[in-house]
Amino acid sequence: MPIYDFHCLSCDRVFERIVRADALPACPHCGAAQVEKLVSMPAAPGKSAAIIASGRKQAAREGHFSNYSKADKARVK
Ligand SMILES: [Zn+2]
Repeated sequence: MPIYDFHCLSCDRVFERIVRADALPACPHCGAAQVEKLVSMPAAPGKSAAIIASGRKQAAREGHFSNYSKADKARVK
């Protein structure tokens, strides 16, 4: 079964659940039933690359390189 990301409208958190097609789970954080399915997840290949890129940009801004591979570190220097 597919894993979907859900956004809780009550506490504004995002969580992952394995659910059947149109089922909406309750929020595991606050128990609210007002959740929405995030249709953009799971991310398309291009999108996850963008997420990685933005994570690396943030890492560079913050001055650490823990999410770079060795090859990437060599390129950045
Ligand atoms: Zn919630």
